[in-house]
Amino acid sequence: MTNPKQPSEIAREALKLLAERKLPPTPANYQDCYCEISGHPMMAAFPEKNLRKIALALSAKDPEQRELLDHLDAAIGRRSWHDVENVLSEFFRVVSSSPQIDDADKSAENDDLAITDTAELFKQIANMIECVLPALESVDEPFSKKIESLLCSLRNPASDIHSIQAELGNFNHRLLLAAEEQDAIKSALLGLLHLILENVSTLIVDDRWLKGQVDALLTEVKPPLDLRRLDDVKQRVLDVMDKQSMVRGRSLEAQEEMRVMLAAFIERLSTMSESSTTFQGKIEDSAKRIENVKTLEDLAPLLKDVIQTTREMAEETAKERDALKALQAQAVATETEIAKLQQELVRASNSARHDPLTNALNRKGLDEALVREIANMQRKETPLSVALLDIDNFKKLNDRLGHESGDAALIHLVNVSRQNLRPGDTLARYGGEEFVILMPDTMLDDGINSMQRFQRELTKSFFLAGDEHVLITFSAGVAQFAPDESGAEAIKRADKAMYMAKRAGKNRVLGG
Ligand code: GH3
Ligand code: MG
Ligand code: MG
Repeated sequence: MTNPKQPSEIAREALKLLAERKLPPTPANYQDCYCEISGHPMMAAFPEKNLRKIALALSAKDPEQRELLDHLDAAIGRRSWHDVENVLSEFFRVVSSSPQIDDADKSAENDDLAITDTAELFKQIANMIECVLPALESVDEPFSKKIESLLCSLRNPASDIHSIQAELGNFNHRLLLAAEEQDAIKSALLGLLHLILENVSTLIVDDRWLKGQVDALLTEVKPPLDLRRLDDVKQRVLDVMDKQSMVRGRSLEAQEEMRVMLAAFIERLSTMSESSTTFQGKIEDSAKRIENVKTLEDLAPLLKDVIQTTREMAEETAKERDALKALQAQAVATETEIAKLQQELVRASNSARHDPLTNALNRKGLDEALVREIANMQRKETPLSVALLDIDNFKKLNDRLGHESGDAALIHLVNVSRQNLRPGDTLARYGGEEFVILMPDTMLDDGINSMQRFQRELTKSFFLAGDEHVLITFSAGVAQFAPDESGAEAIKRADKAMYMAKRAGKNRVLGG
C-alpha cells in the first residue's frame, strides 16, 4: 500500500491540476481537484453534464434571452455555482416578464388575418376559374361536376386546404391540356382554311373577281393572328360579300332574262318556218290549180288568192321580223347590263386592295402596283420615282379637332392629290398618315418638283373642319429606283429622306 499523500502535497497537486485544466481557481473547482488527487470520496461534484442538459432544454425567444443562455453556458464552463445561479434567476425573470399573453393575442390575430386573406384569395381563385371556364369549351360531365365541387370548396371557408390543393392541381392540368388542344385546333383550322382557299383559287381561274378576293384572303389569313386583324379581315370580306351578293343577284336575273328571250326567239323562228311551210303549201296548191285553168276568167280569182296569200305571208314575216328585232335589242341591252355588272363585280372585289377610308390603294394594292411599275421600268428602260409623305403634326390635329376631323383631313389630302397628280401616278395609303406615290417616267428632280407642287396645292386648298380653315402640310422624301432595286428598298430610301425633311423643320421635300 502506498502512503497516503500529505495534505500539503495534495493541495499543491490540486493547484497544478487546476492550472492544467485551465479551470478558474474557484473553491468548487479547487475542491473537485483536491478530492480527485486525494482519492477521497468526492464531496458533491459540480454537476456540469446535468446543468448543460438543463441549459439545452431552455429555449430563447429573443436576443436578450439568447445572450443570457450564452452566459449560462459560460458559467457552467467556469463551474461557478454563483454565476449559474445568477444567470438562471435573471433568465427566468426576463422570461416571466416577457409579454407572453400579448404574443398569444398577436398570433391569434395573425391567424385570423391569415384566415381572412386565404378566404379572399380562394374566392378570387373561384372567380378566376369561372372566367376561364368558357375557354375550355366542351367540358365533360364528370369534369364539370369536379369544377362545381372545387368552386364550392373554394367559396366555403371551412374547406380542407389539402383537398382544395389537390382539386386545383387537377384543374390546372385539364386547363393546360385544353390550352394545348385549342392551340392545335387553331393551327389545324388555319391550315384547312389555307388549303380550301388554295383549292378554290385553282378552280376559279376564269372568275377574276373571285380570284382577286381569294388571293387577298390568302395573304391576310396568316399567323400570327390577332383579334384586331381578324376583325379587319372579317369586315372587309363582309363588305365585299354584300356588294357581290347584290351585284351577283342582279347578274343572275339578267342571265335568266336572256334565257327566256332565247326561248322566245327560237319559238318565233319555228312559227316563221311553220307559216312559211303553210305559205309554200298554199302556193303549190295554187300552182296546181293554175295548171288546170282553161279560161282567163277562172285564172283571175286564183291570182287574187295567190296575191292574198303572198301579202299575208309578207305581213306575217314583217311582224316576225319586228318581233325578232325587238328581242334582239332586248338581248343586247341585257348583255350590256351583264357586262357592266361583271365590271362592278371586279371593282367590288378590288376593294380588297383599297383603303376603305380614303379609297386610295392599300398596302396590297401598292405591292401589286410596284410589281407592275418596276416591270414597266425595266422593260421600257424608263425612270421610276417613289415618294413617301407623312402629314406634319397630325397627332396635334387629331387632339385639337377630334379623330373624325383627322379622318376627313386624310380624305381631303387624297382628293387634292388626285386633282394634282398625273393620271399614271399611283397613290397608296402606306400607314396611318403616311402615303406612297409611285411616279412612272419620272426622274428624281421631277419627282421632287411634283411633290412640291402638290404641297403648294394643299396649302392653297384649305381643309375645312367645321367653320375652321385648317392648313395641312406634309414632309416627303423622294427616291428614284435603281435598275435592280426592289420596291421595299426604294421606299426605305424615300422614308429616310422624309425623316431628314422632318428633322430639317417639316413641310419640305428632300431627295434620297
Ligand atoms: P410628325 O409631324 O413628326 O409626323 O408628327 P405626327 O403627329 O404627324 O406623327 P405621329 O406619328 O406622332 O402621329 C401620327 C398620328 O396619326 C397618330 C395617330 O393617332 C394618327 N392616325 C393614324 N391613323 C389615323 C387615322 O386613320 N385617322 C386619324 N384621325 N388619325 C390617325
Ligand atoms: Mg407618321
Ligand atoms: Mg406625321
